[in-house]
Amino acid sequence: MLNDTIAAISTPLGEGGIAVIRVSGDEAVPLVERVFRSKTKLSDAETHTVHYGFIIEPASAEKVEEVLVTLMKSPRSFTMEDVVEVSCHGGIVSVKKVLDLLLQQGIRLAEPGEFTKRAFLNGRIDLTQAEAVIDLIRAKSDRAFKVALKQVEGNLSKQIKHLRYVLVELMAHVEVNIDYPEHDVEEMTNAFIKSKCDTVMLEIDRLLVTAEQGKILREGIETAIVGRPNVGKSSLLNELAQENRAIVTDIPGTTRDVIEEFVNVGGIPLKLLDTAGIRETTDIVEQIGVERSKTALAEAELILLVLNSNEELQLDELVLMKQLAEKQTIVILNKIDLSRKLDIDQVLSYFPQERIVELSLIENKGIDHLEKAIAAIFFEGKLESSDLTYVSNVRHISLLKQAKRSLHDALEANEQYVPIDMIQIDIRAAWEQLGEIIGDSVGESLIDQIFTQFCLGK
Ligand code: GDP
Ligand code: ZN
Repeated sequence: MLNDTIAAISTPLGEGGIAVIRVSGDEAVPLVERVFRSKTKLSDAETHTVHYGFIIEPASAEKVEEVLVTLMKSPRSFTMEDVVEVSCHGGIVSVKKVLDLLLQQGIRLAEPGEFTKRAFLNGRIDLTQAEAVIDLIRAKSDRAFKVALKQVEGNLSKQIKHLRYVLVELMAHVEVNIDYPEHDVEEMTNAFIKSKCDTVMLEIDRLLVTAEQGKILREGIETAIVGRPNVGKSSLLNELAQENRAIVTDIPGTTRDVIEEFVNVGGIPLKLLDTAGIRETTDIVEQIGVERSKTALAEAELILLVLNSNEELQLDELVLMKQLAEKQTIVILNKIDLSRKLDIDQVLSYFPQERIVELSLIENKGIDHLEKAIAAIFFEGKLESSDLTYVSNVRHISLLKQAKRSLHDALEANEQYVPIDMIQIDIRAAWEQLGEIIGDSVGESLIDQIFTQFCLGK
């Protein structure tokens, strides 16, 4: 049953001062009213109004919690159903008590993602927007949050819809040709197919390029801190971990399971590789042996090479720099509070100036330069623009690739003058694959699979 009334705590449980219980469904208003006392009756109230009052135990009329209740009547709510949100200010115990009271009135506990699923099924949002809500919940950095927000607003959907429109036009054009197959029309049609397929493929490519950055924003840049003993690697790690604690969202129904060290540096999430190892041993190159450290370095997407500016460069550091010159590396000249003994020209022969950051971890100087260098290396200013359509979802990426392949097939067939109704099949396939991204033509099971990824209460 779609419209039975459901409820869940939709804010993080725990320390937070306020907890919100969201109730949605046909009977949301009368069922909440059974346990809610305030000046105005909820069922008489206007939509989008907030009401101060008390949650009471209906049998004894005993006050359980002081609350603010927000009313959003269908269809002007997130699920497009009647929604009542109860904001409690008590701790976890009283919130649970309020939820229990609501459940005793016949409201059902929502499944993970059920609110968003209803929003989708009721036509409030499309699939890319629904999936972006998952990303919003999981966003590990400000930037990732913005990207997800844009997607919620429908940026990607808009572009996909446009591409599908181009393909529909093309299919219509080709259809006409199938019905009236004159020779010169056919030649024109071949040219038309080529131009339209090329256009759409280019657009798909552009979206796929953003996928790599999208992945970084979601999953963090795999980062290794390397350098000789005593140069300041642990100090750097601590500095990053303390000052830039990753945003860890703590959501009911899930465990707080961030084991990897995630740090957020200037809005960019870094996933520090083998963090525990680095913490204990301070030197992965020495401790885990040359071979293993090589693979660790190979896996890293970003390397922070720490050097001590108070010492001359050592032979093994020169060897390391030579190896790293090929990789995305930022060289950190630490301990600039002490006298300079390191020959910076030697470093400059391997790395450009903008990849070298001078700082003092002990005096807390120059960390902002490091942040800028990290941002520059990955985005080169591209992300600063307002055009934040990043494809960051594996399902979207795979469908975009499939659509691209279909169009590629269409183009190849087109060049070989394959009968046009055969080419039409490939174009149609691309159109359907793009449709799957926004949820036109997706099967029931896929929908369930996507929505159960949500945390409770969303
Ligand atoms: P690791 O072995 O590379 O992890 O280096 P550590 O972070 O353990 O630091 C080694 C020593 O250098 C410690 O005594 C730190 O206090 C010191 N140190 C770290 N950063 C600085 C700095 O910027 N200036 C100075 N003078 N000492 C530093
Ligand atoms: Zn979660």
